[in-house]
Amino acid sequence: MDQEWPGVIGGGTGPRLDWRPVAGQEQDEVQRSLDERFLPSPVTGQRRLPIDMDYVRDVLLRLVAIPSPSGRTDHVMQVIGGELHRLGLPFEVTRRGALLAELAGSEAGADRTVVVHADTIGCMVRELKDNGRLAVVPVGTHSARFSEGARVTIFSDDIAGNYRRSGTILPLKASGHRFGDEVDTQGVGWDVVEVRVDEVVHCRADLERLGIQVGDFVAIDAQAVVTPSGFVNSRHLDDKAGVAAALGAFKAIVDHGVPLPVTAHLLVTIAEEVGLGASHGVDADVAELLSIDTSVVAPGQSSSEQTVNIAMQDSTGPFDYHLTRRLIDLCRAHDVPHRRDVYKYYRSDAASALEAGANTRAALIGFGIDASHGHERTHLEGIRATA
Ligand SMILES: [Zn+2]
Repeated sequence: MDQEWPGVIGGGTGPRLDWRPVAGQEQDEVQRSLDERFLPSPVTGQRRLPIDMDYVRDVLLRLVAIPSPSGRTDHVMQVIGGELHRLGLPFEVTRRGALLAELAGSEAGADRTVVVHADTIGCMVRELKDNGRLAVVPVGTHSARFSEGARVTIFSDDIAGNYRRSGTILPLKASGHRFGDEVDTQGVGWDVVEVRVDEVVHCRADLERLGIQVGDFVAIDAQAVVTPSGFVNSRHLDDKAGVAAALGAFKAIVDHGVPLPVTAHLLVTIAEEVGLGASHGVDADVAELLSIDTSVVAPGQSSSEQTVNIAMQDSTGPFDYHLTRRLIDLCRAHDVPHRRDVYKYYRSDAASALEAGANTRAALIGFGIDASHGHERTHLEGIRATA
């Protein structure tokens, strides 16, 4: 593990916001000093906080480099905890392992929560095969089609020894020189791919000697590339770009000393990809919940990689009417590039929170991802707009 837990609620040592009610002339001075910290919108004259995109980019690249398939998220949560500590946000870890940070506002009740998830799709070893390769099942919902050719890291339980090994997911017929046209007709699915481990292994016993067992996690490597044009090509932008955007937004509030009218929570969940997400961790005082997650960039969708995208409905139904329109109004007022969209085969942390009975309005926004749960790509401007 990279870092120790830095602290829990009350343990933060970074910059803190001391908010107190002010009136009259003093109020004007507070407003003036706040205005100086905001960027004017070129269109409306309204002001918005600048986002430290160097920080967001750096955090994003660090997060995607840490394997975190649902079920094996301790490491990435340690790093996110360290980041919250550096930002001075007090937080606690729930029994189930989610992370709940808080930025206090002036009034109790009617809190707001931003929810992001740190887990990703991945795989798990189903069988040690006689040919020395590994059969795997998916963790989370994703097609084997997009895993073909992916570099992976296999994690065994032997923490004291060599517990990380690299490999590649390959179709069973992986060589055109051997199989000819059959490589194009073998079909797609988790039963027709296998993991080639980068060790001298010829049989099942060789795999056992390496300490690899059924149930070991197989994480798909991110292989992140940021282009000069601002595109981020990487696996697991879902939802690590959301975590980076949320951290960027909270950092902006802390850096610029902006007082909050109501308390803001940041909930980082660890099992969204298997449907559990924010099924716990939403405080009873929370009146508005905002999930930040992938938006679907594909034919027939209006979402864009360069904007924030506001979901009007997903597979679980429409989002809260009033909160959704309020978000759109905010985008308009502050000249934040945005789109509206509806998603057919999609759910997020908001769904699991509502299903678990959270008594809150809920909405979903996101950065656009092309080829989601596959060869993902987004754009830094979309992440900025989301933050
Ligand atoms: Zn997601």
